[in-house]
Amino acid sequence: MHEMSTIVRMVNLACEAARREGGGRLRSLSIRVGAMTGILPYYLEKYFPEASKGTPAEGAVLKITEVPVTVSCMDCGTVYEPEKTPGRRCPRCGSIRGRVQTGRELMLDQIELEEVPQETGKDL
Ligand SMILES: [Zn+2]
Repeated sequence: MHEMSTIVRMVNLACEAARREGGGRLRSLSIRVGAMTGILPYYLEKYFPEASKGTPAEGAVLKITEVPVTVSCMDCGTVYEPEKTPGRRCPRCGSIRGRVQTGRELMLDQIELEEVPQETGKDL
């Protein structure tokens, strides 16, 4: 089960990024998870509250984008999702020789910070 360590790492990355942006709390963090990583988004969401507890990411919205496995055919260049084609073959030429294009991602994509009220310095 790698989900707990994965989400802890993502939370740390997000908090570091938030600090670099001047601090404040996180409103949301977006992560991309490739289907080949074996990481299940369900568990990332499940462990997120615990992983973010006591950090600026506590209470933030976790947005997970699942990236499907795509392969580009080494014979004709067609990009396809092998899981959706018969025999995992290229739908155009039938070749099984493919190069993985996407599906290995495991990354913090984006963070959104809560709006920090600006000091105007004006007395009423
Ligand atoms: Zn092909």
